[in-house]
Amino acid sequence: MREFKAVVLGAGGVGKSALAVRFVRNEFVEVYDPTIEEAYRRAFEVDGEMSMIEVLDTAGADQFTALKEMYIQHGQGFVLVFSLTQESTLREVESLRQQIYRIKGENSNFPLVLVGTKLDLASEREIPTSTLDELSSRWGGVPIFETSAKRNWHVQDVFAELVRQMRQRIPFE
Ligand code: GDP
Ligand code: MG
Repeated sequence: MREFKAVVLGAGGVGKSALAVRFVRNEFVEVYDPTIEEAYRRAFEVDGEMSMIEVLDTAGADQFTALKEMYIQHGQGFVLVFSLTQESTLREVESLRQQIYRIKGENSNFPLVLVGTKLDLASEREIPTSTLDELSSRWGGVPIFETSAKRNWHVQDVFAELVRQMRQRIPFE
């Protein structure tokens, strides 16, 4: 079975831990210690084939650190997370993407998905789908998912897409 390392990055409070825990344990944790950084593993079947996926749920300071740089170096696929209810978190994702390019190389073609969280909080939504469609085309068609870890909407789709990209783009070891 192939094994892949995914890294979940995004501003504090956007729902990175809720997304990771929903994917790995199929539960919704209402309150999760924002300083806990944890790597989860699960076997995951995509298109009839099993893979082992390690999901690193990053935490802590929003600014760029040597530790974050190390995660990015080791990571093979990236889940960039923002909250649909907080427009500023989308800008954070733009900066994270630039940091990944800086570390992986400007011409690298790393597996990447963009995830908007808290889709269930419809009345608090700040970012329309049209903004996300524009961003996706600006970024060469990167897939963007609108999700809710609370309601379990589209969470598996995020990781299935990432696994497909990792299978295609990461060479066999
Ligand atoms: P992190 O700092 O990015 O890891 O964010 P957390 O996963 O700790 O979530 C931050 C807050 O957002 C918590 O209060 C969660 O309960 C809440 N949250 C996360 N995902 C969702 C979601 O899909 N829907 C709703 N309504 N709340 C969410
Ligand atoms: Mg967290």
